[in-house]
Amino acid sequence: MGRYLGARCRLCRRHQTKLMLKGSRCYSAKCALERREYPPGQHGPRRGRTLGRLKDYGLQLHEKQKARRIYGMGERAFRTLLKRAVQMKGVTGENFLQLLEQRLDNVVYRIGFASSRASARQMVRHGLIELGGRKVDVPSVRVKPGQEVRVRRDATELLAIKSSLETANSMGIPPWIDRNSADMSGKLLRLPDRSELSLPVEEQLIVELYTR
Ligand code: SF4
Repeated sequence: MGRYLGARCRLCRRHQTKLMLKGSRCYSAKCALERREYPPGQHGPRRGRTLGRLKDYGLQLHEKQKARRIYGMGERAFRTLLKRAVQMKGVTGENFLQLLEQRLDNVVYRIGFASSRASARQMVRHGLIELGGRKVDVPSVRVKPGQEVRVRRDATELLAIKSSLETANSMGIPPWIDRNSADMSGKLLRLPDRSELSLPVEEQLIVELYTR
């Protein structure tokens, strides 16, 4: 299945959760979910909130789709990562979220070089990012704690990156991330704890879905 290229705000309205897919717009009064808090489509306003009616499988599927959309991943890559999480020691759900957080596009977003994971993915794809001193253009590459992520020298003047960094600086930094704005570099200091990730996802339901 290909990547979703439709209206991203529709996804938030479908899941009735802010998935934060559109950068600074998500924090503004223009957020579509704030203005229209009902599912999209012709019958959306009439049907109203429908999530409460979902049962086991429906809920699991719903949580899986939500997480997949937050991280902008295809079904196959998502499933592969979950299989890896199952093979690791510890709590599968937490392992899974940590693997998602280690993706290069996500780390670029967390550092603040991009205002959304979709923009971060595009930056990586366009070869604007170095990982450990080498150009890497694969968004799914796993970043290890301590590895340096840096904007390549010929991209440091790009206004979009500067403006994202400015916004990120004004909003603070996750405790597991290091950011050096002057140098346009950053690091994953350690893996985040579940309690530190304010993700609107019930990962246990996703694990149950794939391990049925
Ligand atoms: Fe979702 Fe952001 Fe659109 Fe709001 S603005 S509906 S949070 S993508």
